[in-house]
Amino acid sequence: MNSAQNAPTSPKLTPNMALKYRNTFGFEVCAESAYEITAAEQIPKVMQQIAEQKLPWRVLGGGSNVILPKVLPGVTLLMNIPGQEITRSDESNTVITVGAGVNWHDFVSWTIEQQLPGLENLALIPGTVGAAPIQNIGAYGAEVADFIDSIEAFDTAAHAFVTLPKAACQFAYRDSYFKQNPHRFIVTKVAFKIPKAWEPRLQYADLARQFAGADTKPTAQQIFTAVCNIRSQKLPDPKVIGNAGSFFQNPIVPDKQYLDLLQVHPQLVSYPDQTGMRKLAAGWLIDQCGFKGQTVGSVGVYKNQALVLVNHGDGTAEDILNLAKSIQDKVREIYGVQLEIEPNIF
Ligand SMILES: Cc1cc2nc3c(=O)[nH]c(=O)nc-3n(C[C@H](O)[C@H](O)[C@H](O)COP(=O)(O)OP(=O)(O)OC[C@H]3O[C@@H](n4cnc5c(N)ncnc54)[C@H](O)[C@@H]3O)c2cc1C
Repeated sequence: MNSAQNAPTSPKLTPNMALKYRNTFGFEVCAESAYEITAAEQIPKVMQQIAEQKLPWRVLGGGSNVILPKVLPGVTLLMNIPGQEITRSDESNTVITVGAGVNWHDFVSWTIEQQLPGLENLALIPGTVGAAPIQNIGAYGAEVADFIDSIEAFDTAAHAFVTLPKAACQFAYRDSYFKQNPHRFIVTKVAFKIPKAWEPRLQYADLARQFAGADTKPTAQQIFTAVCNIRSQKLPDPKVIGNAGSFFQNPIVPDKQYLDLLQVHPQLVSYPDQTGMRKLAAGWLIDQCGFKGQTVGSVGVYKNQALVLVNHGDGTAEDILNLAKSIQDKVREIYGVQLEIEPNIF
């Protein structure tokens, strides 16, 4: 077989591609040129062209954690790399290697069907597998970092593929080495290590309530279903109302600041943080400032969850960022706490 036969097909290039349906805020967005990346091997040539022509570029997965402007200049890489396979299995763990473009929730469902429990608490999070490690997605007492073995990526600084073991990924709350080094790594595959020993994770109040009083411990399938039901009730479906999930991170403050705030605001909602600091509930802070359910032009704060900002129809990135700024200013004024925006602003 000659090398031409081995070469992956060139990625499909679409000029002036509309991305309204590839950003969950549902903003009207046009990418000057978009490459649909379906194989890792397509990336070096595209990146070489981008470097030679000195074009701006960015990577887009499912668009569920981004705030996109009306026009995305230069090149947008749409990560559509498919595939998932069990690459190792021993008495302790199963390792599954998954393409960056695979839908996250579809992958979680598949693991449950395959009797590989572990990821059930992370069901129904929108987006792709390749984006999951970027902000170390987490929900209902679990984080993706708990299950990562290694990550394959194209390192644009070295113009080479690299494999980063979990220890090199510097995972923390909604953070990673990839997030700390934006525009450097293009994740192509993620290897997950699913331990064979399994225990339900029910410490999160909503889940604990669901299974309180049960005689036997719930199965992973039952937790998966419960998480899907709770999320569907609490969060707006982006297909119905544009949003990017939690808009702000929960601020983490030192114990002293937390105790001082508690003196003045005895109802303050907070959780212990893994690092020994205190994580304040950003949604509660925003709610207390009176923003819940407010609408400003075409954007607003979701009526059932103050942490979620929504696009009612014709909103733009500028509208959302203006609203975010007024929320940040008010929360800082009243609580002395800075709220950080979670989605990536392009
Ligand atoms: C309704 C709703 C609920 C949500 N709930 C949660 C939740 O419970 N927990 C949580 O953590 N998040 C949540 N999110 C946020 C979002 O689902 C996650 O951050 C998800 O991982 C984003 O995936 P994506 O493919 O859409 O990434 P995108 O939004 O396309 O991209 C996000 C960032 O990752 C980068 N990126 C994407 N793919 C790659 C790649 N292959 N290589 C390198 N960089 C890449 C992008 O450049 C961008 O900076 C929610 C969002 C919505 C809309």
